[in-house]
Amino acid sequence: MTSSPASQHLFERARAVSPGGVNSPVRAFRAVGGTPIFMASGEGAWLTDVDGRRYVDLVGSWGPMLLGHAHPEVISAVGAAAARGTSFGTPSEPEVLLAEEIVARTSAEMVRMVSSGTEATMSAIRLARGFTGRDKIVKFAGCYHGHVDALLAEAGSGVVTLGLPETPGVPAHVTADTIVLPYNDRAAVEAAFAEHGDQIACLITEAAAGNMGVVPPEPGFNEFLSQTCARHGALFISDEVMTGFRVTRSGHWGLDGQREGWAPDLVTFGKVMGGGFPAAAFGGRRDVMEQLAPSGPVYQAGTLSGNPIATTAGLTTLRLADDEAYGRLDAASQQLQSMVTEALVEAGVAHALQNAGSMFSVFWGVDGPVTDFAGAQSQEAWRYKPFFHAMLDAGVYLPPSAFECWFVSAAHDDQALSTIAAALPNAARAAA
Ligand code: PLP
Repeated sequence: MTSSPASQHLFERARAVSPGGVNSPVRAFRAVGGTPIFMASGEGAWLTDVDGRRYVDLVGSWGPMLLGHAHPEVISAVGAAAARGTSFGTPSEPEVLLAEEIVARTSAEMVRMVSSGTEATMSAIRLARGFTGRDKIVKFAGCYHGHVDALLAEAGSGVVTLGLPETPGVPAHVTADTIVLPYNDRAAVEAAFAEHGDQIACLITEAAAGNMGVVPPEPGFNEFLSQTCARHGALFISDEVMTGFRVTRSGHWGLDGQREGWAPDLVTFGKVMGGGFPAAAFGGRRDVMEQLAPSGPVYQAGTLSGNPIATTAGLTTLRLADDEAYGRLDAASQQLQSMVTEALVEAGVAHALQNAGSMFSVFWGVDGPVTDFAGAQSQEAWRYKPFFHAMLDAGVYLPPSAFECWFVSAAHDDQALSTIAAALPNAARAAA
């Protein structure tokens, strides 16, 4: 294992003052063992840790860093915005520009800014309940929508990484109205709506599941969800916190709804739209969004919502995320996916590499495609641990969990890809 004395020292200090030494559980190395690496700086596709070691980054801050780290134009725009003042608690121009950019790219007719994806999904659910006057919500096992109480039932991401069946602190009555169904299972959706249809406020789904590893929706599944909700007077919420502005310039909707001619009633965004700062949003149909305070009765608010620095970072990122940038990102991701497949096949490791656009992950030791949470959990996740550490030792920083997506950026150039290519054969043998 990589020896990282400065990280080790900081981790010991961190553990004394922060639970588990981290501020978000997925950052801990619980699933892979060893000490979390403390990063000191990032540039393009590269991270440098506090011991001075460099890594090609395939985490990308868990999604936001679409353009890579410290993009000069983003940094300069943020610096100029900070010099003008960091937060006013009044409306300001950048939040209008960012909202216009989001509305222009996506199905949302209006958006409300918040500071995290969790706030976005929490607020969207409240709005759906307020709009419909109904209480029940439907979600899928293995989908993660942030740490919203009512959505922490059979969640993915850190919840599955830590193997938590449920979370203490969430009273049973809070999840009593949450119906959890298997992903990609039309019959289960039909049965739930047949039984509870007139009480269901909304169905929320990741636009493509990325928090149990990447499990794309089967063709037509999102459209089917949208139609089923419409038939029963429930709202369809597409969570694009991870996929938004990443898998296409219009998010996952650019891969299905936009082509097929349907739109979610509400949609949530985060990650890329903040350019590495805390900015997120929820949006959707004008008649639904108009129910939010102060135009309507459903309360929602935030001291730092739409603050000028985060919205400037997001706006600059989105303006730089043009067709050429998406072309580079997609090409780098495809090349990487081929390299990973080749190395695993060569080493004789059974696996399924699955993708939704440029987002992808590997399921270890499975003999066919994974379509739901049960399939994801049946993988031989233990194979990931030696693979992860062999990659880390060779200078490649992967997500420290087999259940997370690998994030490529538009800054992953030939040098970054050849570092990964050099690391893969040995890591694949370690996983065999
Ligand atoms: N929704 C999805 C699909 C996510 O992947 C995440 C975070 O990973 C969230 C919501 C929560 O976002 P945040 O961590 O910004 O609260």
